[in-house]
Amino acid sequence: MPSLGDIARYHARHRAERIAISFEHRETSWGELDRASNRVANALTASGCRPADRIAFIGKGTDEFFELMFGAAKAGVVLVPVQWRLALPEMQQILLDAEVRVLFVGTDQFDKLDVLRQPLSSDVTVIAMEQGHAGLPRYAQWRDAASSSDVQAPVEPASVAIQLYTSGTTGVPKGVMLSHRNILDGRREGMRAGMEWNEWLDDDVNLVALPVGHVGGIAWGIVGFFSGAKTIVMREFNPAQVLDAVEHEGVSRLFVVPTALHQLLLQPRVRQIDYRRLRHILYGASPIALDLLREATQVFGCGFCQQYGMTETAGTIVFLPPEDHVAAGSQRMRAAGKAMPGVEIRVVDAHSREPLAAGQVGEVETRSVANMVGYWRWPAATAQTIDDAGWLRTGDAGYLDEDGYLYIHDRFKDMIVSGAENVYPAEVENAIYGHPAVQEVAVIGVPDEKWGETVKAIVVPKEGATTDAADIIAFSRTRIAAFKAPKSVEFVAALPKGPSGKILRRVLREPYWKGRERRVN
Ligand code: ATP
Ligand code: MG
Repeated sequence: MPSLGDIARYHARHRAERIAISFEHRETSWGELDRASNRVANALTASGCRPADRIAFIGKGTDEFFELMFGAAKAGVVLVPVQWRLALPEMQQILLDAEVRVLFVGTDQFDKLDVLRQPLSSDVTVIAMEQGHAGLPRYAQWRDAASSSDVQAPVEPASVAIQLYTSGTTGVPKGVMLSHRNILDGRREGMRAGMEWNEWLDDDVNLVALPVGHVGGIAWGIVGFFSGAKTIVMREFNPAQVLDAVEHEGVSRLFVVPTALHQLLLQPRVRQIDYRRLRHILYGASPIALDLLREATQVFGCGFCQQYGMTETAGTIVFLPPEDHVAAGSQRMRAAGKAMPGVEIRVVDAHSREPLAAGQVGEVETRSVANMVGYWRWPAATAQTIDDAGWLRTGDAGYLDEDGYLYIHDRFKDMIVSGAENVYPAEVENAIYGHPAVQEVAVIGVPDEKWGETVKAIVVPKEGATTDAADIIAFSRTRIAAFKAPKSVEFVAALPKGPSGKILRRVLREPYWKGRERRVN
């Protein structure tokens, strides 16, 4: 399978009648998906799209989205999936930045149509998905007007398939150009290595519940398609619906971010469901609190596998296999895991860029075929991120142990420098999360005359629970060193989150740092 489109071709040849996608109980077989994506490819060409041109999709997850993804790939056209949770100006910015030729808008985003079209030139075609929208071509009609015969033009594995914007956790989202090879070769290596969690069986059912505009939704979707599994696509993450799908639709694998896992555990029914069909829960995309992970492994009783990766690496490059989750409380459960086959990981000194020995904390770097082609129209950022030897800087602080396990502390940009000490917010959050009255917590550095920065915790208390700042601080001190414990605590009703569910510490920091320069390491 040299290109993304070949996934549909291959499975149409080998399992044409089997279900590829199930969306709101509408099922599409591999044969149907293959033909529909041929039509999309031909329709894109008829709409004036040439290889390397860009088209965008803004919307929640649907079967039509994945059809579009395979169709664009077959035509050599670059798909730009845009997060539907972004603010309108952010969406406009991405559409302008990517210079899209065709914009596909999901039903759930029609209320934004006028604003989305404003900055676009008049020759951009706007197409409405699902039931359509007055005055706009409807996706299904546009697609079905084209031939279902396969496009003959070969697609270069090194050409860009998907331009995916980063989550914008630390700043402006960056357009990451991912080639067919970036996306596919990592998956292939993983399969070849015979890793148990990555071996898909014939009856596997994959659940895609994360946004398709995020690497956690799209790349995870591709993993399942690659293996020929049936994929259930969910419009958006809804914890009750996820449990329903697990209970009634035979979901055997699902990928969640830690905040989503937390929401699943808060469901009243979570302990009453039979999880025998559930083989693996994959989790990642941000640090996870150990207490949360322990509870989840007990409640679901299935295999757990952590994934560490980023948009720039087309998804997972490091994984913590199920066997390292068995001894609850073991040191290994704190690790992000070990490198996927074919992936190199090293930790370097953030200033000298010299590789560090095992146990020493520095910046994590990676090199593999999964590393992005570069940032779209941002050569300076690309040059800053990937060096001449192909090492990609992750921006994450961490260390490798003697056995090659990677431990992620946090992002360098969020590291708190208090006096001479470095404090990683994730570690402090991890400690506070164990407090029985705490629902969610974020830790940031706030300016301090004496120490430069001090540690502040922002806590969402559990409903009906009582606690106060002194209690949280005292609790922290029983679990982590005094200098890491918060000096102040604030209680709020909710935390700001990015489009993929990540807590936005930069937004929490803002009011404290107005007019001041914060030293970033
Ligand atoms: P931006 O680059 O725009 O600031 P982002 O880095 O959040 O946003 P993504 O590509 O979605 O965008 O996320 C990659 C980052 O997520 C990694 O660099 C790392 O900080 C974090 N991450 C991913 N997986 C894990 C994990 N298993 N444990 C801890 N952190 C993780
Ligand atoms: Mg990033």
